[in-house]
Amino acid sequence: MSVESVVQAVYLVAAVLFVLSLAGLSKQETARRGVLLGMTGMGLALVATVALALDRSERPVGVTAGLILLVLLVGAAVGTWRARTVEMTQMPELIALLHSFVGAAAVLVGFGSYLTDPGSAGSDGTAGADGAGATVHLVEVFLGVLIGAVTFTGSVVAFGKLSARLRSSPLLLPGRNWLNLAALLACGGLLWWFLTAGESGLVPLLLMTVVALALGWHLVAAIGGGDMPVVVSMLNSYSGWAAAAAGFMLGNDLLIITGALVGSSGAILSYLMCRAMNRSFVSVILGGFGAEPGVVAQGAPAEQGTYRETTALEVADRLTAARSVIVVPGYGMAVAKAQYPVADLVARLTARGTTVRFGIHPVAGRLPGHMNVLLAEAKVPYDQVLGMDEINDDFATTDVVLVIGANDTVNPAAQDDPASPIAGMPVLEVWQAREVVVFKRSMATGYAGVQNPLFFRENTAMLFGDAKDQVELIVQAL
Ligand code: NDP
Repeated sequence: MSVESVVQAVYLVAAVLFVLSLAGLSKQETARRGVLLGMTGMGLALVATVALALDRSERPVGVTAGLILLVLLVGAAVGTWRARTVEMTQMPELIALLHSFVGAAAVLVGFGSYLTDPGSAGSDGTAGADGAGATVHLVEVFLGVLIGAVTFTGSVVAFGKLSARLRSSPLLLPGRNWLNLAALLACGGLLWWFLTAGESGLVPLLLMTVVALALGWHLVAAIGGGDMPVVVSMLNSYSGWAAAAAGFMLGNDLLIITGALVGSSGAILSYLMCRAMNRSFVSVILGGFGAEPGVVAQGAPAEQGTYRETTALEVADRLTAARSVIVVPGYGMAVAKAQYPVADLVARLTARGTTVRFGIHPVAGRLPGHMNVLLAEAKVPYDQVLGMDEINDDFATTDVVLVIGANDTVNPAAQDDPASPIAGMPVLEVWQAREVVVFKRSMATGYAGVQNPLFFRENTAMLFGDAKDQVELIVQAL
């Protein structure tokens, strides 16, 4: 059996492991297994790729092996150091930076593939040296470099905005959508030139790279910093397609499959995030998304009547009397780092025989799964953590709901007020419960900048102060 066929078989096993890994990651209970399966698949893929490179090596095998070992050591050392030192809150910016590497790699693979073999088929040799095969290869190179360059600069801008190295406000150039369209049309023209230029296609390829780099920069610069999580998820998708394009250029089936998995899962995640925020997917793709984050809706009154304040002691009393409690966490729980006392509170109530569960909105916090990660960190049992669709019908039969630092995700205006900027956004119907306690520091609005009528309902009480301090006081009182 040749090395080549063993490698192909290993690639197939790795591809299956990647699919199983994604399936595992879709549920909290199986996420750890999903990560392990993904790591095993990637380990196998690496070993097989190195074996193939050594088998195909035209220089002495020792030299090739030494070079590969060197880059592996550098990459593994930097990767391990970053993964160990990164803060949970810096995760989005690290991911953005990693996407930029995928983009840059696709650009380099494209140029490498073109320069070593300007007019013939991919390195798999399947297309042959005939005209059609050569054209297919050139289109692969062109698209790979185009998507890679857009991903590269887009991710660099996203990283800059998330890490506050660049201004987070959107850059709104006049006629920006026309500029994007013009850039795409220019790329179309350059593709034609590239395909007909024969041996001298390097000029249109370089020109297109410059246009694509500018396009990636402009697309993401036009988006407000607060909306970067959706953009990072979209760039994740772009980086997958860039990797798939590199796979076509190199004739590497595993890279094509992996790229397609990353590309489509990133696109699905972006779509789900947009739907949970009631925003249009198209407007995200076109940029200009989140142009006015945090702006109070026009004409919306700052206050809507009177609200009732409560104290930690009173809340402790109500919790003692309650038979069923739902905790709805939001961005404020992350800011206050209140997950540990919240987990403690829930454990104590559960030990007393109270039914306590968490209700998680899909875009609570600032990252998909933000709340799930925090609660897992505080060792809350997975079966107590339910998604919005699973728990929304249960609020009506619940005694007390604790809304801890959540705001937009529990706003009844999304259902009641068609003029509200968040009208139509699916929300947790906490107001159906007998009593609602809202933990926050002031009457300030949430991320969407919209006032929340929940705070003025008769069955709602406001517990002002830092969420962590207040929950600790309740635990003491209990
Ligand atoms: P919100 O951003 O709507 O509200 C958070 C609330 O927490 C604020 O009202 C704030 O009130 C309160 N808060 C802040 N710090 C503290 C603290 N230390 N102690 C107590 N309370 C605090 O949060 P939600 O989670 O409900 O909603 C998420 C929002 O983010 C949605 O609008 C969503 O569309 C958006 N978004 C989500 C993304 C995701 O992937 N999850 C991505 C991009 C946007 P106060 O200042 O008065 O304390």
